[in-house]
Amino acid sequence: MTDLHPDIERILISEDDIQRRVAEIAAEIDRDYKDAGQVVLVGILKGAFIFTADLSRKLSVPHSVDFMSISSYGDTAESAGAVRLILDLRKPITDRHVIVVEDIVDTGHTMNYLHQTLMGRNPASLKICSLFKKNRDSLDVPLDYVGFDLPDVWVVGYGLDYADTHRTLPYIAELKKEVYS
Ligand code: 5GP
Repeated sequence: MTDLHPDIERILISEDDIQRRVAEIAAEIDRDYKDAGQVVLVGILKGAFIFTADLSRKLSVPHSVDFMSISSYGDTAESAGAVRLILDLRKPITDRHVIVVEDIVDTGHTMNYLHQTLMGRNPASLKICSLFKKNRDSLDVPLDYVGFDLPDVWVVGYGLDYADTHRTLPYIAELKKEVYS
């Protein structure tokens, strides 16, 4: 096994386990949408770009892929919860079956904002798929597909970053506390 990057505390979820779970989620979506016609996957940048690509390639239901980018205001705990739209979808989603593809849900503020924003555009249906969920007390947003529960630590890899680094690790790893605190 190659040496871990010095910022990494430990690997939490292996590449094999991630790939297996993504295939299971794709199979669930295939079952749920088998009669739906064309589906729209909405990947949330940047963190979900790798998950969106892998999920899309494992799906059999006909679908298109679009992206949104969301940012929280500021970096302080006080400002967490204020969310703004950085990049919007290229096409309207009115009367379309939409699945939001997110990397991780923590407090649920981001997903709450996305859910409200997208519901306001009158899709035929809206479901949410998040590969990771961190916080058992997160806001009451409906998560239709969830890959893994995670402990309350900062994780990187499989698209998730710390200051735009570590996104391309194939596994999910816990960052050393001294790196981010
Ligand atoms: P929420 O709004 O649910 O509190 O936070 C969700 C967003 O925070 C995610 O989309 C992600 O961008 C970021 N986030 C939360 N926890 C982590 C983490 O452990 N690692 C990384 N890289 N991003 C996280």
